[in-house]
This record gives sequence, C-alpha cells and structure tokens, in this order.
Amino acid sequence: MKDIKVNVIGAGLAGSEAALQLAKEGIDVNLYEMRPLKNTGAHVTDKPAEFVCSNSLGSNDVTNASGLLKHEMSILGSFLINIAKESQVPAGNALAIDRTLFSQKVEDLIKQNGKINIIREEILTIPSDIPTIIASGPLTSDPLAEDIKRFTGEEHLHFFDAIAPIVEKDSINFDRAFYASRYDKGEASYINCPLNKQEYEKFYEILINSPKIELKEFEKNAAFFESCLPIEVLASRGVDTLRFGPMKPVGLVDKRTGIENYAVVQLRQDNVSATMYNLVGFQTNLKWGAQKELLHSIPGLENANILRYGVMHRNTFINSPAVLEPSLQCKKRKDLFFAGQITGTEGYTESIASGMLAGINMAKYLKNEDLMILPDITMLGALLKYITHSNQKNLHPINSNWGIVAELDVNKKMRKNKKLKNQMLAERSLNYLNSIFHVN
Ligand SMILES: Cc1cc2nc3c(=O)[nH]c(=O)nc-3n(C[C@H](O)[C@H](O)[C@H](O)COP(=O)(O)OP(=O)(O)OC[C@H]3O[C@@H](n4cnc5c(N)ncnc54)[C@H](O)[C@@H]3O)c2cc1C
Repeated sequence: MKDIKVNVIGAGLAGSEAALQLAKEGIDVNLYEMRPLKNTGAHVTDKPAEFVCSNSLGSNDVTNASGLLKHEMSILGSFLINIAKESQVPAGNALAIDRTLFSQKVEDLIKQNGKINIIREEILTIPSDIPTIIASGPLTSDPLAEDIKRFTGEEHLHFFDAIAPIVEKDSINFDRAFYASRYDKGEASYINCPLNKQEYEKFYEILINSPKIELKEFEKNAAFFESCLPIEVLASRGVDTLRFGPMKPVGLVDKRTGIENYAVVQLRQDNVSATMYNLVGFQTNLKWGAQKELLHSIPGLENANILRYGVMHRNTFINSPAVLEPSLQCKKRKDLFFAGQITGTEGYTESIASGMLAGINMAKYLKNEDLMILPDITMLGALLKYITHSNQKNLHPINSNWGIVAELDVNKKMRKNKKLKNQMLAERSLNYLNSIFHVN
C-alpha cells in the first residue's frame, strides 16, 4: 500500500511475525529493536525472534492444545511457524528448533522482502502519529512500559506475575470435593477440597521439601506483595500458616457429612464456560513436577488435569480485557495494536500467533476491511477471547489449553475420553478454518 507506514516495536517473536504479515500486504514497516544498544537481561544476541530459554515450540500433535494452535497458524499463513519447520531439530512429537538457524532465517526473510526497515533504537514513548503495533514483550524497557502505563491507566499494566495453577473441572473427583461458599453466603460457586489432619500434614511435608524454580538475576529484586505470597513462602513461616491463610477451613461445611474440615483448598471458576478452576491463593514458584505431585496429594485433585502451572516471574503485560478487542486492536486508539506476551498470551507459539493476528488485522484496518476475529472453537480465537474477556481483576497470562475452547456438545462419557474429545475439538477447529480460508 502506497505511502502507508506502520511502526512495529520489538523484533521479537510477535513483532517479527507481525512485520512479515504487514509486508505481505504491501505495507512498509519500521521495525524497531533496542538490542544490541540496550538488552533485556534475558536475550543474548542481537538477532530478531530470539528464543530466550528452551528451544521448543511444544507439541506438534493436533490433539495437544499447543499442537492445534500451530496447525491453525499454518492455515492462517504464519511465517515463523514455517521457518520453525525449516529449522527443526529432532524432538519426538515436539517442534524444537535450532535457535541460531531460526533467527538467521527470520532475519534473512525480513531483509529480503524490501518492505521492512529494521531500526536499532529503543522506543521510549508510544508513537502518536503513525499506526503502531507494540510487541515489546515481557521485558519491555522501563521508559516504554511507563508510557504504556500512562496510556492504559496505572492499574492496567503489570510487571510481575504470580499465578496459581488452573485445573480442568472434569478431572476433579467430586466424591471428595464439594461445592460451598464460606458461611453459605451467596451462591455455592466454589469447589472445595477438604483435608483431614493427616492429609494436611502429608501435604505440608511435600510442600516444604519441594524444589523451587530459581529466579533470574533481573527478577531477584522483585518484591512479592504480602497478599500475593507464594504458598511455599507462607509454609516456611510455620506449619499452620496456610490453615490460617489460603487453606482456612472455617465456614466451609460439606453438607454430605456435616463436617468442617482441618484444612480446605478452594477452587474458583476461571472461565465463563466453567471448565477451568484456579486454586485460590495458591500462587507458587515450585518446579512443575513438584507442583503436580503436590496438587495430586490434595483429596479431590488426585487425578486433576493441570491446565496451567503456577509461575512467578518478571512479566510486563497489559490488562487486555480493559485495553484490547479480541482483534488485538486498542479500544481507545484504533490505529494501535498490541501483540505477543504483553497482551497476556504466554509462550513462544502464542506470541507468534498473536503477532500474526495483529499484523493481519493492522493491514485490514488500514485497508478499511473487517478485522479478523476468530471464534472460540479455534484455539487462537479461544486464547484471544480469554485474554480480552476474563474478569479484569484476575487476568493472568495464559497459554493455549483445552479448557478455554468452547465445549463440545457431547455426552459426559465421551467428554471423559480425553484423547477422543481433543481429536474432535481439533477437527472442529481445522474444518472451520479450512472452510473459511479454502485450504486443504
Ligand atoms: C526469561 C524468560 C524465559 C522464557 N522461556 C520460555 C520458554 O522456555 N518457552 C516458552 O514458550 N516461553 C518462554 N517465555 C515466554 C515468552 O514466550 C517469550 O518471552 C517470548 O519471546 C515472547 O515473545 P514476544 O514477541 O512477546 O517478546 P520478545 O520475544 O521478548 O520480543 C520483544 C522484543 O522487544 C524488544 N524491546 C523491548 N522494549 C523495547 C523498546 N522500548 N524499544 C525497542 N525494542 C524493545 C526486546 O529487545 C525484544 O527483542 C520466556 C520468557 C522469559 C522472560
């Protein structure tokens, strides 16, 4: 498109994909990247689309949530997923890449197409006079983060993430768990997992002996809010601290037994369709294997399917329900889009996916076309619906998972067959996308 230029801030996973999508539509792009002039603390090269930690984009299997997302992205024409396949290294069912080759190929593609101008500069404020996609990532530099805070409102930008695990409701054992609200106030919408003294002591033993994830150097100064302390920190203060905190049993009676228990783990509904429940006050930095063992020691969660593990890390993200449309367009400035981890989607694949959609939709916006909003039968549509529609006070970044996708209209027995259910969910999404985008 003649005479139209778009700024993309951040040549990471989302920004590189967004820039390539814009260039494909004939739009000129200024792609701003602050590295190597200024680093993030996690990146080690000056290359675009650097994988900062693991080299895996997760499963390729369509019956895996992340796998389905990748299949959807292939249909929608993601450049980086294509390059990932070209840079693949053997990793069983997963799509793992040679990170040097991957970044080099992304850089080559960006340079070859002639539409994208990489500018090595730290952007300090949101440009006001040119259509812009902000894809500056979880480690957005401080001056820009400050300006985003000014733009979105103080309470709509977060710098640190303390997340409690989320489990799939269908995997909870209701022979032990029960619905109740404390002191029977309001609707009995919480799911409660009761522990007797012996079970609590076993749970406590596992917890205090569990290994934790080491915080990175740039995260060590992060202060935890007292009201948001990890369970392992609370537990280290004494054996009963949790029973007077997030595991407080008072006022929670299982009507089937009439018993008020020794301790209770409460789970709160996490999505509108009530398929996902988060463990209240259970933010944690334990290693994922240890979290699994700990959660499975809780009566009622013995076989819980963990959709999202707890994490604590430096993470800059906006409160998307207040700031963004599911198209990733800003509610209060139509020529401004956000993409990548800063939107509240979590993970490499998810960052590329939202970069792809932001690029596609910015191009559509500039051409006066309807923006692409995918339905929540697709993994990408569900992801964007989740981040733009969840309760504003509780938005925590999320990766692709089956709990966010619209439920299937099948009987309970079929729903319990996970493999079959996921296969059907995946077919529903891919059939839909193939029918819309006419690809086989
Ligand atoms: C330490 C760490 C480890 C992670 N490990 C994994 C993992 O193993 N697996 C996984 O799936 N996900 C992981 N993630 C989460 C996430 O998937 C990655 O951070 C991913 O790279 C996010 O993509 P992005 O495009 O949003 O941001 P990035 O890829 O970080 O890209 C943002 C870019 O913006 C640039 N930038 C920032 N501020 C400015 C500015 N003011 N001006 C110009 N440029 C700027 C940065 O230098 C960077 O290049 C990790 C995150 C972190 C922080």
